[in-house]
Amino acid sequence: MAQRTLCIIKPDAVKKNVHGSILQKILDSGFKVRGIRMAQLSENEAGKFYEVHKERPFYNELVTFMTSGPVVLVALEKENAVQDYRTLIGATDPAEAAEGTIRKLFASSKGENAVHGSDSEENGEKEIAFFFRESELV
Ligand code: ADP
Ligand code: MG
Repeated sequence: MAQRTLCIIKPDAVKKNVHGSILQKILDSGFKVRGIRMAQLSENEAGKFYEVHKERPFYNELVTFMTSGPVVLVALEKENAVQDYRTLIGATDPAEAAEGTIRKLFASSKGENAVHGSDSEENGEKEIAFFFRESELV
């Protein structure tokens, strides 16, 4: 069954001008883009999006990073999208990410790691709804 997941191409990747290459890899892996836009996240938006990590020591650093420049928000759809997209991006820390994964290829560090990916079907739906109106999805 088709499933949706949220991709965010993070500020480090946009600054390095690799957002096109990342999106091409995603498309080549069979994902459909249902919604896409660039955004400059506010501190409030980034803080709310990552609220689950509020108590973690890296939370402030994460919010500062995510608001440091434009991002690309992408609503993706595919069968088994959540798990397949997590496999495509690789481990959170690029040092631990498998060869050929997006984070292995494009991430700089555990914090500045090129892309976000939802961790469950439920969160995928929630995260897409956080950034997109239903009318912005095709
Ligand atoms: P993932 O993005 O792989 O789901 P998490 O949900 O654990 O990883 O963390 C969310 C984001 O917070 C990561 O993608 C990364 O940008 C940042 N982050 C996670 N752990 C650390 C850390 N130890 N130091 C700095 N930033 C971190
Ligand atoms: Mg996560």
